[in-house]
Amino acid sequence: IGRLKEAVDLGIAQPIKSELLDKVVPPQYRDPEGLWYAISARARVVYASRDRVPQNEITYEELADPKWKGKICIRSGQHIYNNALIGAMIAKHGEAKTEEWLKGLKANLAQKPSGGDREQARDVAAGRCDIGIGNTYYWALMKTSANQKDWAEATKVILPTFAGGGTHVNVSGVVLAKNAPNKANAMKLIEWLAGDTAQHMYADTNYEYPIVAGIKVNDIIAGYGKLNPDPMPLSKIAENKKAAANLVDKVGFDN
Ligand code: FE
Repeated sequence: IGRLKEAVDLGIAQPIKSELLDKVVPPQYRDPEGLWYAISARARVVYASRDRVPQNEITYEELADPKWKGKICIRSGQHIYNNALIGAMIAKHGEAKTEEWLKGLKANLAQKPSGGDREQARDVAAGRCDIGIGNTYYWALMKTSANQKDWAEATKVILPTFAGGGTHVNVSGVVLAKNAPNKANAMKLIEWLAGDTAQHMYADTNYEYPIVAGIKVNDIIAGYGKLNPDPMPLSKIAENKKAAANLVDKVGFDN
């Protein structure tokens, strides 16, 4: 959502007017003005050590609980995936509470934030931490890769929820350039991306959750359990991106 929001803020997007997209993309996954639409979704989840983490449920709020002191691994707080998660926390609880949460999470880190999402599973597998934070599709990509399979297999995916809410979901999506010289073709491509063929490709090639209801989720992803996405509209999360980035700096999350 961070990149979609950036495109809108730069003023390079024009409204996408499509009856098809309005029908198949749920309102929480599109811009209120139609400047972006999500095409597929992924959840930000916990990769927990199979050996050392007995629990199978967790809240995002709990990640700040001192019981995890020295046990959590995560990539930079300034990465867009984490900015969005922190932005969602701000939308839920406000800035002051989110700052406390972020301080608590920082205090629980096993090491300075580094690497990408897959490296967090790698570090859980190596015993450097008990919990890594990552997106749903990276776990499937590791599980199906020759040399990262062990990282996936040392961990189990837990779909966290906000206390009293659902799981934080981010998206990949489309914007239509304001100066698009071939607008009609662009619209064809956009509508194709929301069609059955492309939705199955998102599900089975990139291991995303299809945005269109009724398209089968890949078996590896379905194996995490039933996803209950948090109902917060993504536009609300995007509105808090800047505040999230500021908090990351303020608490020195990456230092
Ligand atoms: Fe990614």
